[in-house]
Amino acid sequence: MSEQVVVVGSGYAGAGAVKSLESSLDGEADITWVSDTDHHLVLHETHRCIKDPSIEEKVTISIEDIKSPSTDFVQATVEHIDTDDRRVDFANGRNIEYDYLLVGLGTQTAFFGIDGLKEHAHTMKSLDDALGIHDEVATAANEATQTDPAQIVVGGAGLSGIQVAGEIADYRDEHSAPIDIHLVEGLDEIFPGNDAGVQSALRSLLEERNVNIMCGEFIGEVDEDTVYIGEDVELSYDVLIWTGGITGHDAVRDASVDKDDRNYRLKSGRTFQTSKERVFAIGDAALIDQPGEEPAPPTAQAAWQAAEVVGENIAREMRGKPLKKWKYDNKGTVISVGEDAVAHNVSVVPFVDTFGGLPARTLKKAIAARWISDITGYKRALDAWPDM
Ligand SMILES: Cc1cc2nc3c(=O)[nH]c(=O)nc-3n(C[C@H](O)[C@H](O)[C@H](O)COP(=O)(O)OP(=O)(O)OC[C@H]3O[C@@H](n4cnc5c(N)ncnc54)[C@H](O)[C@@H]3O)c2cc1C
Repeated sequence: MSEQVVVVGSGYAGAGAVKSLESSLDGEADITWVSDTDHHLVLHETHRCIKDPSIEEKVTISIEDIKSPSTDFVQATVEHIDTDDRRVDFANGRNIEYDYLLVGLGTQTAFFGIDGLKEHAHTMKSLDDALGIHDEVATAANEATQTDPAQIVVGGAGLSGIQVAGEIADYRDEHSAPIDIHLVEGLDEIFPGNDAGVQSALRSLLEERNVNIMCGEFIGEVDEDTVYIGEDVELSYDVLIWTGGITGHDAVRDASVDKDDRNYRLKSGRTFQTSKERVFAIGDAALIDQPGEEPAPPTAQAAWQAAEVVGENIAREMRGKPLKKWKYDNKGTVISVGEDAVAHNVSVVPFVDTFGGLPARTLKKAIAARWISDITGYKRALDAWPDM
């Protein structure tokens, strides 16, 4: 009987892994792909749906358009992974057994125990999240006036928070909507931990769009109409969006695989092997060892690169061959602020650290188009181009 390779998750990690497994295994083993959605979501462009929900069509790609006919797909929510019995349990009571497992479940939002945050804030991790934010922003704007504008608060100014704030600003400008936007970051500057040049370019673009940036104090509590920041700032809100942290999925919390004690992301080596035999993990779900102190970052870029190699490594493991050690290659970052964008340290433009304008906007589109083309072909990529 053929060996069974199970891939869980249909994000960059899962979709990319299925493609690389299909080409590396070449029919040598059965592949079953499991996800809670019947599509791949181009998550790093899903914030576009906040401004324009019709972009949903461009950022969702049917599983059937990605996988080959010989790969089975099961739509189910993973609830538990039993590494002793080599079994994945689903919320619907069913399960699947594996010989090799690739975990690509991504992460869920971390609330850090902040009082009221989980109850009152929108998250930004799915298509439904983006569409829900659109609806609430539109409703709040309809109920507001130019003298008493709707208050939209975005908590967390990393990749997600900045891009979400930018989309809301574009929505406001396109609809002449009475909206104030506040971007709250507990650390000292937006896009924390990054180069000062890219931070300041992003700040300028956001401020040009009248986004009020508040850095240096953490959100300590939230109730149904107020966000409490630091010791003395109280910000009333109509819509609150929280993008301030990620943590491992509940589904892997009690799996007996080595994980980070605080955030439950699975520890995997440079070959993507975890502490459990035959269990591999990549993408945001994993903390992948890298030379030096830091693991690979939780980005689409890193998940995509790892996915290209993991299929070959699983095939090598099956054939008893030594596995390849993967090294993340940081090709730079491109971040949108609505229609605009800032690019930083991108390898295709040497000698220029940070730039914006048309070149950055075009690059942002090209990155999304390249990914869509890689997993489903150039026609869909061309179709999506204007909206990315
Ligand atoms: C608004 C926003 C903007 C971003 N912008 C950028 C950017 O510009 N550049 C960049 O590099 N990165 C960006 N990121 C980060 C990037 O999207 C993530 O790093 C990337 O999605 C990680 O890929 P992944 O496959 O590991 O996880 P995901 O893409 O989150 O995929 C996880 C998959 O698992 C499925 N799943 C989850 N739980 C279960 C379960 N229990 N059972 C079954 N299936 C399940 C999900 O449906 C999904 O298919 C952004 C993220 C957001 C939210």
